[in-house]
Amino acid sequence: MKLQRISNDVAMLTFLGFSNCYLVREQDGFTLIDTSTSGNAKQILQAAKDCGGEIKRILLTHAHSDHMGSLDALHDLLGRVDVAISEREAPLLHKDFSLRSDEPQTPLKGFLFPGAKTRPTHTLTEGELFGSLRCIYTPGHTPGQMSFLDERDSTLFSGDALVSLGGTLQVCTVTPWWFPLPKLFTWNKLLANASARKLITASPRLILNGHGPAIPDGSRALAEAVKRAGKSRST
Ligand SMILES: [Zn+2]
Repeated sequence: MKLQRISNDVAMLTFLGFSNCYLVREQDGFTLIDTSTSGNAKQILQAAKDCGGEIKRILLTHAHSDHMGSLDALHDLLGRVDVAISEREAPLLHKDFSLRSDEPQTPLKGFLFPGAKTRPTHTLTEGELFGSLRCIYTPGHTPGQMSFLDERDSTLFSGDALVSLGGTLQVCTVTPWWFPLPKLFTWNKLLANASARKLITASPRLILNGHGPAIPDGSRALAEAVKRAGKSRST
């Protein structure tokens, strides 16, 4: 695991060189955004300790295995901890793959969602404030994928709505040839592109993603990524 202090309030934890989760400082301790793949709970707890705090809340961007893989183990080790995920994504955390009537009827790939025994204590809705983080629905990669904007300094945690593998910000529909998984595992590309466009209005200063390094000058990078996605043949 690589631990990188992004700012006073944020640390980035990277597993296997490609899977990120984040510790976000709040007054009472850390909110952990995503839990990476399975088998990483002890290292995540140690990272929080090294950063001088305890994990008080776990926030999930979506229910893919590389984002919630260590959820159950963390929940066991932490005991009482709040667990939050969007209202739409919550059923996917217990492997309910039914689609809603107002959604594109693109089938979901069940093997990407291993499910968890941990049940969320909070389900999040559009515009809600969770600690310092504003919840923004960004469906497409999954039906209920959610991004979070830290309103203290306009840091955007995009989950897999955006990826920055190789250091270039892209919409998840335009991943590089050498790491196509976020694109291959995206549920609905039209929605994913629309969600990336929606994020422009958040005017992010810094963008932090599930995969790839931090992207400074976020608004400009996002505008360019959205433009490239619009031109991409894959969409
Ligand atoms: Zn994903």
